[in-house]
Amino acid sequence: MQGRNPLGYADHRPFTGFSDELVYGIKRDGGTAHISEVARGLLCDCRCPACDQVLVAKKGSKQLHHFAHHNRGIACSHVAETNAHIWAKQVLEREKRLTIPPIVAEHGGHTEIVSPAKVYVFAHARLEKRLDTIVPDVVLFTEDGTQLIVEVRVTHACEEAKLTKLRNDGLSSIEIDLRRFRTSADRTAVEEALLTSAPREWLTNAKQASFDTRLRDWLAAEAARKAKEAEDRAQRMVAVEAAKARREQEAVARSADRLIRAVRTNRRNLRRVPEQMEALLNEFYDVPWSQAPSVGFTVHPLAWQAEIVTAFLTYPNALDYQWADHISTGVALTKISHLLIPAFRDRISEQVRGKLRDEWPGHSVPDEAVGKFLDGLAGAGYLWPTRDGEFSVAQEYADRLSERERRRQASQRRCDDVKQRVAVVLARLPKAEKAEFNLENWFTTHLKSQNGEPRALCWLGDETFRKFERALKRVELLSEGGPATEELLGLPLSGEVARAQIRERDRLVRAASLRRSSLTDAARAELGEEAEAWLSSASQDDEEMTWIDQAGLDDLSYQRVRGALASASAKRQLAIRAQDEASSRRSHLREAAGKIYDRDHLEVFLHASHPRLGKSPLDHCVDQRTLQECLALLPRLRRARPRYLFGIESKS
Ligand SMILES: [Zn+2]
Repeated sequence: MQGRNPLGYADHRPFTGFSDELVYGIKRDGGTAHISEVARGLLCDCRCPACDQVLVAKKGSKQLHHFAHHNRGIACSHVAETNAHIWAKQVLEREKRLTIPPIVAEHGGHTEIVSPAKVYVFAHARLEKRLDTIVPDVVLFTEDGTQLIVEVRVTHACEEAKLTKLRNDGLSSIEIDLRRFRTSADRTAVEEALLTSAPREWLTNAKQASFDTRLRDWLAAEAARKAKEAEDRAQRMVAVEAAKARREQEAVARSADRLIRAVRTNRRNLRRVPEQMEALLNEFYDVPWSQAPSVGFTVHPLAWQAEIVTAFLTYPNALDYQWADHISTGVALTKISHLLIPAFRDRISEQVRGKLRDEWPGHSVPDEAVGKFLDGLAGAGYLWPTRDGEFSVAQEYADRLSERERRRQASQRRCDDVKQRVAVVLARLPKAEKAEFNLENWFTTHLKSQNGEPRALCWLGDETFRKFERALKRVELLSEGGPATEELLGLPLSGEVARAQIRERDRLVRAASLRRSSLTDAARAELGEEAEAWLSSASQDDEEMTWIDQAGLDDLSYQRVRGALASASAKRQLAIRAQDEASSRRSHLREAAGKIYDRDHLEVFLHASHPRLGKSPLDHCVDQRTLQECLALLPRLRRARPRYLFGIESKS
């Protein structure tokens, strides 16, 4: 040995530890000798480490130096392993340390590192052929005598039979895999691989069984602990579940009791149907109003249903729910929450429902009753189902409602108009006359003459309303100072009528006076000084009345009196004309007679009654005929002049 390597030693011979030719022999003193350390041929004085046969040292110039069996018939195998073990024993004897692999306990697929990989320090290394194998084992001994067998794998793995034997003998052994270095000539690298870095594993471990048992026991204990824990946990869960179930049941019972008590306290209100609902029930006569038994409401079933109908189906609410807003049981319940027993405003669980059903079989709780009612409204065409449990107001109904609202507004306008007009009429009345009157009462009072109350007539707006309105118009005229009317429509207008009658009488009196003065004027114009006599003479129509009084009666009488005046006037004109003619004829007679008689005889002739006439000529002579008759009484002598007289007559 010359020099030192970094570990303290130097050996500059090429590495031959894994050679296929035997490079180690056993010396007579039992020590090992490298081929390089011995003399050539039998002089080497060595035996085979495996088969103990005599060796010859072949140290020629052509081949690698090696040992050969002196008896060529010997078949000795595992030369490489033998070389490797002897080399390894030398290295280990020198270093007295070796990295051993971790100890891993294993049981049922579970593993546990009992001891990590570590540097094993020992007292010395020996070669021992203790297990009936050809290749001697490297055995490491510690101070306290513990043994560790080291197998160096170069070509072959450790045989199964040997492993069994090792196990049976309770020996610990590791195998170091140096196959990678089979052909290496780098002694330093190979030694380092042996001591530290080459793959290595436990072939057998004397304590492996106890490690495994310990792991098994630990695993078993752990499993048992976990099982126990799981069982405890399960029991606790069962207990918790049971307690929870009990608490839930108690909660259900409490809730149910609370609801039942609440219902009993509220029961007395349920029989009353609010009177103000009547109009709504009439308007929505085809709604399937339900009186099915229910609990949880503070009012009669019709009352909360009316509230829902009001909220969703009356004008203008219904138009809001026509498109955007959805109607559902939940929304409906919020609309009527003030009609629910407070305890019923919260959601009721299935179990509590069950208890309530036991208490009141066949009764619905609010959300059930409301849900059914909404379904009924959909069935009657008021609602339109949109999606599960939701509705909107049906289009057709919304249209109908709008039309009805339009008519209602028209009716309302008629009502307002009538009231306004009546108020104006009333405003004109003296306070005392309207003290007892109430416009609103009157509006809803049946008027016999109109066969209905004013409100109903306004609502209808038909022919009966128009008749009513005509009567109202006459009342307004009366109120404005017009004529009295008989139909007063139940209004306090008797005073107004009395005043109208007075006005009428005054008017008649004025008219009569006017007619009398007009007649008087006309009579004076027509009849002259005879007028007064004529006016106060009895009329032809009524012997009891004078003309002037008859003219005062009325226009018709006045017209008739004017007719009578006209004829009286005409008669008077005739009389005047006859008198004029008579006067003229008499002048002619006097003139004619004056030509025959002297003055005295003339007067006698004119005034003395003539036997042929039965009166005096002057009285008889009123016209042409009587003039002729009178002229005929004159003596013949004078008859020569009639032509002349006739000529005068013609001129007149
Ligand atoms: Zn041999």
